[in-house]
Amino acid sequence: MYSKILILRFPKNEVHKPIVYHLTKDYDLVFNILNAAILPRKEGVAVLEVSGSKKNFKEGIKFLKAQGVKVQNASQEIKRNKRKCTDCGACTAVCPTGALAVQRPEMKVIFDQKKCSICELCVPACPPRAMEVLPTHQAFFE
Ligand code: SF4
Ligand code: SF4
Repeated sequence: MYSKILILRFPKNEVHKPIVYHLTKDYDLVFNILNAAILPRKEGVAVLEVSGSKKNFKEGIKFLKAQGVKVQNASQEIKRNKRKCTDCGACTAVCPTGALAVQRPEMKVIFDQKKCSICELCVPACPPRAMEVLPTHQAFFE
């Protein structure tokens, strides 16, 4: 069983649609709403604990994103420890989202955290273990 706490941000025209219900109906995922709110700009934010098989979890997240929902992992994030990084580039070969990329002509490895899907593939691929999984301290509702 795979389980994560997610922050979902719904665009204002999608707030009243039963998008989350499809996680159970179509992807056999169990969810528990920990918090939910409509922000002043009318976009919706919900914090959910979602559980199920890893495959269904990935498919469910893909579905949410296709509906325009921004999905964030509430419990952990990936950081690069710049003191340990040697710019070897090994992580860029495994990163599926382009969050890690070689900047030319400097040949420096850049990390764009906004593109990171927290798949953790870069963690074991990094020889000096510069990519670290850390608990996130982000506030749920800004
Ligand atoms: S966790 Fe995944 S998406 Fe994020 S930087 Fe590492 S390989 Fe790329
Ligand atoms: S694999 Fe590690 S050391 Fe190499 S560029 Fe990526 S983060 Fe830096």
